[in-house]
Amino acid sequence: MSRRAEDQIGSIADTLLQPTSAAGVYARTALFERVVEGLSGLITRLREPDAEIFRFPPVMSRQQLERSGYLKSFPHLLGSVSCLHGEESDIRALVEGRDPDQDWVAGLSATDLVLTPAACYPLYPLVATSGSAVPVKGLLFDVASYCFRRERSFEVDRLQAFQMREWVCMGTPEQALDFQTRWKFRADGLATKLALPHTVAPASDPFFGRAGKLMAMSQLQQSLKFELLIPVHSEELPTACMSFNYHQDHFGATWGLVTDAGAVAHTACVAFGLDRLALALFATHGLDLRNWPKMVRETLGFDREGYVTTSERPRYTNGTTPRGNTAVTE
Ligand code: 5GP
Ligand code: ZN
Repeated sequence: MSRRAEDQIGSIADTLLQPTSAAGVYARTALFERVVEGLSGLITRLREPDAEIFRFPPVMSRQQLERSGYLKSFPHLLGSVSCLHGEESDIRALVEGRDPDQDWVAGLSATDLVLTPAACYPLYPLVATSGSAVPVKGLLFDVASYCFRRERSFEVDRLQAFQMREWVCMGTPEQALDFQTRWKFRADGLATKLALPHTVAPASDPFFGRAGKLMAMSQLQQSLKFELLIPVHSEELPTACMSFNYHQDHFGATWGLVTDAGAVAHTACVAFGLDRLALALFATHGLDLRNWPKMVRETLGFDREGYVTTSERPRYTNGTTPRGNTAVTE
């Protein structure tokens, strides 16, 4: 990566993100979040009808993530929630440092929670608990979560904590594959409307260890993953801002998701990395939203001053019957 490109993205990021004492963990400024808000509205407008909406917290059940197979594929990226357990006197001794042999950190022990690594993981068990089969037309979902991954390099577009929005499809192999394919093409058009230089390319996940290399190769060979790449740092090393994933029957078999015809359901997801997309827009169009190309501002629903217009339809209104008995309102 050229020093110049690094300096440029660095100085843009300095205006948009405030560092904390933890590497790869940033406070977002209002300007940055305004673009994230514009992107979120755009994703909502593009969403296919009948998608059911869920917003997940940044933590999820450890047992569910274990069952999903995450520890086999990405143990190096997982963050787990640990707490102090025990009697009040034990905890007090630890935190007040009265026990010279024990740092309070050493007194931590794992809880039943882990940090959510991708927005779609909590969805599969949730759908499975309903016990009903996936209908013939398939199921669509719109989910979002703050995600955590224990990333080793802390460039400004590789954060430990980042905002992910996903659409998920469950159904037959054809439905899941078709979903992956159509959004791969539509994302190409979307990036064009946002005037972002881009390519869509086959990709693989950063599977753990030596066996992981084989898994990555097989993922590439079977065209299970594609990414929307945008040169945020450099042309040579473009940044993955979206991904299009076909999981085959992995989640369906794990969680017992079946179709109406009694077959194991296949799943696919389209992931939007909101922080990376926002950063890519700033890196391409500059820091002053008023100077962004008209087409880009309109696509994001911005007025002339670069504020999201209020004529938006409520973001959480969707066309499907909610799973619970609550009305779907903003
Ligand atoms: P995937 O599950 O395909 O690895 O990630 C989905 C999307 O989340 C990626 O395309 C990317 O936009 C975003 N993402 C993944 N890892 C990171 C990260 O370390 N930092 C940031 N800012 N976004 C990430
Ligand atoms: Zn996903």
